[in-house]
Amino acid sequence: MTSPASGATADLPEYAPIPPSSRGAMLNDQGYHVGQVERNLYWVTDGVYQAAFLTTAEGVVLFDAPPAIGGNLRRAIDEIAAANGVSNRVTHFVYSHHHHDHGGAASLFDGNVVRIGHEETRRLLARDNDAARPLPDITFADTYTLEVGDERVELAWHGPNHSPDNIYIHFPGHDTLMFIDVVNAGWVPIYNVNLSEDVPGYMQAPEIVLSYPWTHFICGHLGRLGTRDDVAVHQQYIADIEASAKEALAAVNPVPYYVHYGENVWAGVKGHLDAVVERAAAPIIAKYTGVLAAADVEEFTTTTTFQIMQSLRLDRGPSGPVHP
Ligand SMILES: [Zn+2]
Repeated sequence: MTSPASGATADLPEYAPIPPSSRGAMLNDQGYHVGQVERNLYWVTDGVYQAAFLTTAEGVVLFDAPPAIGGNLRRAIDEIAAANGVSNRVTHFVYSHHHHDHGGAASLFDGNVVRIGHEETRRLLARDNDAARPLPDITFADTYTLEVGDERVELAWHGPNHSPDNIYIHFPGHDTLMFIDVVNAGWVPIYNVNLSEDVPGYMQAPEIVLSYPWTHFICGHLGRLGTRDDVAVHQQYIADIEASAKEALAAVNPVPYYVHYGENVWAGVKGHLDAVVERAAAPIIAKYTGVLAAADVEEFTTTTTFQIMQSLRLDRGPSGPVHP
């Protein structure tokens, strides 16, 4: 071990304190917090990841199993079930999407568990062949109504966004929506549009989120529940990046970069795109520092700006003028 003063962290940059409104719940000695969302719907966090569960007359329905929370999911369920005198047996498990960081503890809940997921989740999990993430038994293409012990949960797929299979999990009887890895309540998205595959789908998803009726939002990350205002601030952040990227694409003249690098045209591409991204991202970083936590971790906003700028060129077009 090297000490922080002289070791690998000595030269790390310092950042602004996170806004108080972005802070998470206090964790217990085992490193988790379990909270009531509404009635018999609960959420669990380790401060970085989130999962949810519903206690019902028939058993517990678990939504996601991030390995970072892992065995604490069992402890959280046991704690709540014991306090309320209900069954702690997990009978149903729902995958929000196929990613390991949200489902990699699914195999902790085995036995007679009915697993539910989007048909693309099943295909991707079969491809990835990971024993930690057993395939869903029940799959659906567009919508699926899950009914367990008088409770109803509406699952829906509205197209690719963060991943091809990411679903909307609506709890109409609990005034809650769970939708993972697009909006980080109170925080900026991490690298590359929160590591998303479909940028137009990612950009459109918050509008779909807000089309549902809900008060409580389970976004999958960080230490608190989200609100409709959180989604609106995220939308504004993305809209600001889009507008800024458009402005910078139009304003930055690529010619000097290509002239400078001559036959190394890829170096010219880099010079041009780096200049566009720097111009586009700078006002966003300034505007959201102190508003969204980690806005001043510049790489998050610059890589997200790069992805959105490329999506504007490649998905929406034009990528450039048509040669006469
Ligand atoms: Zn993911």
